[in-house]
Amino acid sequence: MNESPAIFDPHACPSLVGKTRAQLAQALGAIGVPEREQRMRVGQLWHWIYFQGSTSFDAMLNVSKVLRAKLAEHYTLDRPRVVAAQLSQDGTRKWLIRMPPVDAKDKGAEIECVYIPESDRGTLCISSQVGCTLTCTFCHTGTQKLVRNLTAQEIVQQLIVARDMLGDFPDRTRPDDDGLIPSGEGVRPVSNIVFMGMGEPLYNFDEVNDAIGVLTDGEGLSLSKRRITVSTSGVVPQIAPLGEASGTMLAISLHATNDELRNKLVPLNKKYPLKDLLDACRNYPGAANSRRITFEYVMLKGVNDSPKEARELVRMLKGIPAKINLIPFNPWPGTQYECSDWETIETFSDIVFNAGYASPVRTPRGRDILAACGQLKSETEKLRARARLALDDEA
Ligand code: SAH
Ligand code: SF4
Repeated sequence: MNESPAIFDPHACPSLVGKTRAQLAQALGAIGVPEREQRMRVGQLWHWIYFQGSTSFDAMLNVSKVLRAKLAEHYTLDRPRVVAAQLSQDGTRKWLIRMPPVDAKDKGAEIECVYIPESDRGTLCISSQVGCTLTCTFCHTGTQKLVRNLTAQEIVQQLIVARDMLGDFPDRTRPDDDGLIPSGEGVRPVSNIVFMGMGEPLYNFDEVNDAIGVLTDGEGLSLSKRRITVSTSGVVPQIAPLGEASGTMLAISLHATNDELRNKLVPLNKKYPLKDLLDACRNYPGAANSRRITFEYVMLKGVNDSPKEARELVRMLKGIPAKINLIPFNPWPGTQYECSDWETIETFSDIVFNAGYASPVRTPRGRDILAACGQLKSETEKLRARARLALDDEA
């Protein structure tokens, strides 16, 4: 396989997969489809691309042969390439996806996407940026140099790739180990999406919002807004706009109960301190007991894991319809932190539980393939050669 960075080819045909309705209309206009026809044609393309998962224009039987030929001449239905795939014993899958360059300055980017199957749902953890401009001290993504926003198209393509890999389009076959992928009446292999991969989604608001529009479009990918969760480290001014524009669920990476500690763990806190963050949560459009805000709290040994902090956490969330997710810290090479001991996590979790929050510890999934938060991409470099061999074997 080619190891060198991809070079931008201005003559390559762009893919239509992942585009919004407006972008598809524009693409049709560019090949001479008159404006009055565009809406109808977009509707047709939408069905084939997002409902059927078509990989060829030939499949689009209700589109005239002439237009199909013209589309194939100028565009493709290509997906970004999966350059490494790993399957954990617990069914968690991790895909390393290579995004082609978006312009002459870009060398292309690799991002990871993780699929976590459970009995009643399948969750896809997707990225909104390559790397992250923020520098949370416990997160490996924050140490990566290369940073760029992903386009809405690249964000949507992560779900398309997952559905391809899981055989989750009409007339596709499921992978062999189907037993691990949830199925049954009304359960899609990917039913939920969390923006908890690389990047700060609220620093790429417009593209994330456009992507959510495509993901939730009822004539295509049809995900429920309430099954999409956007996780933020606390970009306060964008929290209300997110609720208003997208109507998705919100998760806050809290991790500390006082400003002094949070300033260290999540330096963005210096700009938007806890009081402002919690006020924004209180006012989050649509927050209700049936639509709780998730507060993520990473368990760092001797740093934020005392019983006093557990009580403080419960106290500060009073009045906010909230869920609490305690995340065991996932160490990475060179980190200064350790994960709290199991007994400490249990004590912390009991306090939270007794305050009325159910099952708050997020069980680490896919640890054997390093699929956990904050490890996306970073550790894969080492494993890649092996995974590539495995992929070549499958081909
Ligand atoms: N930037 C966004 C979303 C991506 S991070 C945010 O910060 O919310 C997704 C979640 O993984 C966040 O809660 C983040 O704090 C957590 N996380 C990052 N590194 C981690 C690590 N090494 N161990 C456990 N959780 C981690
Ligand atoms: Fe960025 Fe989120 Fe990691 Fe912080 S935790 S560095 S915001 S990806």
